[in-house]
Amino acid sequence: VKEDGRNGLRFFAPEMQAHTQRSLELAAGLKDAARKGELFLVYQPQRALGSGALVGAEALLRWRHPQWGLVSPAEFIPIAEQSGAITAIDFWVVEQAAQQLRAWDAAGLPPLVVAVNVSAAQFARPQLAEELLHILQRVDVSPQRIEVELTEAVALKHPELAETTIRRLHDMGFKVALDDFGTGYSSMSYLKRYTIDKLKIDQSFVRELAEKTSDMAIVTAIVRMAHSLHLSTLAEGVETAEQAALLHDCGCDEIQGYWYSRPLEPRAFEAFAKGLPQR
Ligand code: C2E
Ligand code: CA
Ligand code: CA
Ligand code: CA
Repeated sequence: VKEDGRNGLRFFAPEMQAHTQRSLELAAGLKDAARKGELFLVYQPQRALGSGALVGAEALLRWRHPQWGLVSPAEFIPIAEQSGAITAIDFWVVEQAAQQLRAWDAAGLPPLVVAVNVSAAQFARPQLAEELLHILQRVDVSPQRIEVELTEAVALKHPELAETTIRRLHDMGFKVALDDFGTGYSSMSYLKRYTIDKLKIDQSFVRELAEKTSDMAIVTAIVRMAHSLHLSTLAEGVETAEQAALLHDCGCDEIQGYWYSRPLEPRAFEAFAKGLPQR
């Protein structure tokens, strides 16, 4: 590895080529991954801290690649965003989630809200809200049952368009959640500008909650501010009972994380929900 500049370059080249090759194949494969049945959703339960009730689930995308097995969304979503395949994929996710809600309703589960991740680039589509509503109408699910998660990246390129799109979603009855809250550069200005219903407090503030009084202070402040703006709060990545108890002390409304449950396939989710004490 201790090569000079020229050889160092040669040393890294094959590795980079392999990486590019995989990216290209993933990009090609993504175009019809949904049609081939390679994509599926898992659902991570969300729990209210006061009552302990199951209140919703976040839909998380999985891709079982014929050659590479399970590929992480952290790897393929950015590729889909670059290739443009993300639009069709995001719509597919919303339709799947809506159909899942109907199946769970029919199975006697409580009326849950399913949160879906919508890529930042979509918020520059002026027709996004109508497109999502249309999908729900086809499946006959109310927009009140779907929470659209967005990240701060939505406003990077087209802040005005994003503002309009988010307001339309909100006015149509969709719930809107700001994901990974606290990790970006402009979290506060988002609260002022966008019609948001919920803040998802990023896992980075939860991880060392028990060890760092500074994290307790930050989370407490976020929750207070959110509540005074009539927003609810959900903490992500809760892995221990101690974190859950501390979040309850902070006044946080909901939690999601491995402590409560990992993301589950639909049938496992249904079994999980039915195994809980009824509200
Ligand atoms: P995210 O929206 O912040 O999702 C939370 C991630 O944290 C998920 O990873 C979830 O499995 C993981 N997680 C949940 N609880 C815990 C915990 O207690 N501890 C730890 N260490 N991790 C936890 P996942 O499923 O790999 O998703 C990664 C990212 O991929 C998501 O981050 C989201 O940005 C993106 N993504 C996933 N599904 C979709 C999708 O359908 N559409 C779009 N556009 N993006 C998606
Ligand atoms: Ca999310
Ligand atoms: Ca998140
Ligand atoms: Ca994240």
